[in-house]
Amino acid sequence: MGRNIRYIAVHCTAGNPKQTVRDLEVIFRKNGWKNPGYHYVVTVDGKIHRMLDEGKVSNGVRGYNSVCINVAYTGGLNDLDTRSDEQKRSLVLLLKLLRKKYPNAVIQGHRDFSPDLNKNGKIEKCEWIKACPCFDAKTEYKEI
Ligand SMILES: [Zn+2]
Repeated sequence: MGRNIRYIAVHCTAGNPKQTVRDLEVIFRKNGWKNPGYHYVVTVDGKIHRMLDEGKVSNGVRGYNSVCINVAYTGGLNDLDTRSDEQKRSLVLLLKLLRKKYPNAVIQGHRDFSPDLNKNGKIEKCEWIKACPCFDAKTEYKEI
C-alpha cells in the first residue's frame, strides 16, 4: 500500500464484450506485462473481478500508472460504447466504493489523459490518444 492515488481511470478492454478475465490474462501475458492492465474488470454479466491488489501498479495509462487505479469493462470494440445495463450499474457501484477509499482522486476516462494540444482547456476528440472508454466518463461520473 502507500501509493498516492490521484486518478481512478476508466477503460474499455477494446475487445468483445463477452471476454472473460482468463481471456484478458492471456492478452496481458502476450503483451509481456508482469502485472495486468487493470485492477478491476466488470464483465458483461455485471460481475466485478479484482485482477490486482490496489497497492500494486497496473498497466492502464502510460505515464500515470503509479498514481492510478485502473478500472475496465469488457467491450468497447470498434470504439463503441457496448456497456450492458449490468456493467453500467456495477461500474457505478465500484467507483462509489473506490471514491470512499480515495476521496481526492479524479475519476476520468483513459482518453481524458490525452494532451490538450491546442491548449483550450478541453480534451477534444481530435486530441484523444485513443477512444477508450468510448463514453464521457468524466461527465457521467461527476456526481460520484
Ligand atoms: Zn484504456
